[in-house]
Amino acid sequence: MRLHTRLVHAPACGDPFRAAATPVYQTATFALDGDTLAAPYDYSRSGNPTRATLEAQLAALEGGERAFAFASGLAALTAVLRLVPTGGEVVADDDLYGGTYRLLSHLAPRQGVRTRYTDACDLAAVARACAGRPRLILVESLTNPHLRAPDIAGLARVAHAHGAWLCVDNSARTPLRCRPLEHGADLVVHSATKYLGGHGDVTAGIVVTREPALAELIGGVQNGEGAVLAPFETFLLLRGLQTLAVRLRQQERSARAVASLLACRPEVERVFYPRTEDGAFAPGGGAVVSFTTGCLARTRRFLAALRLLSCAVSFGSVRSSACLPGAMSHASVPEGVRRRRGFAEDLVRLSIGIEDAADILDDLRQALAASATGSSSGVEAQPACARIGAGRHDAARSSHDPERRV
Ligand SMILES: *Cc1c(COP(=O)(O)O)cnc(C)c1O
Repeated sequence: MRLHTRLVHAPACGDPFRAAATPVYQTATFALDGDTLAAPYDYSRSGNPTRATLEAQLAALEGGERAFAFASGLAALTAVLRLVPTGGEVVADDDLYGGTYRLLSHLAPRQGVRTRYTDACDLAAVARACAGRPRLILVESLTNPHLRAPDIAGLARVAHAHGAWLCVDNSARTPLRCRPLEHGADLVVHSATKYLGGHGDVTAGIVVTREPALAELIGGVQNGEGAVLAPFETFLLLRGLQTLAVRLRQQERSARAVASLLACRPEVERVFYPRTEDGAFAPGGGAVVSFTTGCLARTRRFLAALRLLSCAVSFGSVRSSACLPGAMSHASVPEGVRRRRGFAEDLVRLSIGIEDAADILDDLRQALAASATGSSSGVEAQPACARIGAGRHDAARSSHDPERRV
């Protein structure tokens, strides 16, 4: 079966009535024949037919052997970090989701696991960071808000040469655009809260692997720590997955139109969206578009002026939204990393949904125009807005531009 078909047809879950939609087995426990634990299911933390159906579907979509569904993306990442023993080291990209930084920088050290941050797009730098013999290299297949895409096959070679596993957080690309296991990654993680669920109504996380030994370990953590995805949340995810291909296609089409609009607006300084070799905005580049205005006050006026887009964290939903990563989704990124990355405080991250593209573009146009007038707080806005227009030629950047991402 091809991927688009697999999305619609979840594996059969053994329901005796052959229900078309996967039933919600909303039960904590299962009756057993006597005192044996040999039944397929005994207790829902250890296994549940609804969850097993989703896990089998995601394993197939990512080209893995086994998948495990967790209560959130961070619970899934936590399970992966449990593979690193006390005293072990992680090498991580320095352009990660803010919550992942918080996990690596504040919580993992309490278990004796330290992280060295590096630029995952620079394989030589990653190899140097591996001097400490890390057990795990952790990257995102497409970072946000900066939309950088590391070379997964190259990273897998570096990881394996140093005896480490490569884990790729594939939340921002989905298995339709990138299958890291096929490029040598050992583990794939998803915040299924994003595109896989796709409707902004469920928090969920996934780990996929094709190595039986790793599956055994992750399964042990899932059952032993118990941060499993509940049956109803699993059902929502199974339902959301069915439309992933059509949602993503529509979202990407509109996101590209948004990137093109932003690139020629005078209120915008710089646009971040994946690009092709010749510098054009890439088809299949995802639904996240980021941009700077050169001025935090201008950015705040833009966010306040939006009518259709809500000001909200997260991405990948059918509803468009906008956020200020420096203060919202990436507030946990350490100061040093922000400086090194050039993380602009005025950076806006848009997540484009499936509304009519013309309505999205209209809303952005009016909010950009409102951001320039500074009617609410004109005084603070004046000096910092001197850089307006610096990004006007962004779309025409040459292919040698180091800022070109994909
Ligand atoms: C949102 C997100 C996470 C965390 O997932 P939750 O479901 O919010 O716990 C991890 N990685 C990336 C790339 C994310 O965008």
